[in-house]
Order: sequence, then structure tokens, then C-alpha cells
Amino acid sequence: MIKRNLILILILATCSLGASAATQSTHVHGQGQVGMAIDQNLISMTLESPGADIVGFEHEARTAEEKTAVTEALKQLSNPMFVIQLPESASCKVIQASSEVTSENGDDGHADNEDHNEYESEAHGSFIAEYQLECANIAVIDFITFVYFGHFRNAQSLMVVLIDKNGQHRHEINRDIPILYLKK
Ligand SMILES: [Zn+2]
Repeated sequence: MIKRNLILILILATCSLGASAATQSTHVHGQGQVGMAIDQNLISMTLESPGADIVGFEHEARTAEEKTAVTEALKQLSNPMFVIQLPESASCKVIQASSEVTSENGDDGHADNEDHNEYESEAHGSFIAEYQLECANIAVIDFITFVYFGHFRNAQSLMVVLIDKNGQHRHEINRDIPILYLKK
């Protein structure tokens, strides 16, 4: 049941994000994607962000410094509270959380010139995280703050597809107003 919900969100998020996601090779740097479903007392969420937003590069980590950056980011992203903030009174606990890094190969034909924009000439790696939280008092949540922006300086916006009892909605939130309001 839990797993099915997550898969559903991923599918819905992917479909809804259509135009930008369909072209595959070009995710938009600065812009992450969130799929969120609120069902009864459960919040299920996926986050997909360009490597550029999270660690500042998208090629496979080569140097010790880059490897450390990726490891550290995966650790941070495996904690949903590093991404979103929920009111204490909602009494949410993490049921499931995971993070991974994926790489999508760029056009190798253009990868020979180091002077090229690194992001254009190399793989477009992304970070993906999945969370599920159970909240004893979910009704008190009026909005969700994305502390994500405070932690990841290159992240500019998140395209959110929210599925709740009111249906499916798209919201764009950004670092100036990093808040997702929930309709009651
Ligand atoms: Zn990229």
C-alpha cells in the first residue's frame, strides 16, 4: 500500500511535469520537482533536484572533495526534516526515507572541451529522495515550509504537484516564498 502510493506519486508527478521533464536531457538548473500526496494521516513525497542545485556539479564525483559533497548531500536528503518543516503539534514521524543520486548521460560528442559549460557538456545528474511521514494530528498543518532552500544555495524553485483530498494541484514555490499552503 505504502509502496504503491509512492509509485503513484512518481508517475503522476512525471506526467504532470510533462513539458519540461519530457525532453529528458534538460532538467532546469535551479528548479527541482516535488510530488506530494496527503492521504488520511500520511504524507508521501518525492523530491528530484538537479545536482547543480544540491552540490553545484552534475558529473560523476571524481575528487575526494566532490565525493564527500555527494555523500554529505545524500545523508542530508535522507532526512525529510532537512527539506520540509512541519508544525510540532502535527506530531509527524518519519516512516520511510531514502535518497539516491542518478546520472543521465549528456552528449558525449560535446564533452571534449573543458571550457564548455560543464552542465551542458556532461551528464545531468540528479538527486532523488523519497519520504513518507505519518502525522498523528495532520489536520493542524496549514502550510509546509521548505527549509530546503536555506540548505541548498543554488536551488531557486520547486515545482510541486500536490495531491490531496481537494484533487491534484500544481504550485511553484521559490526561495523568496518557500511555503506550500494547504487548502482545507
Ligand atoms: Zn543538468
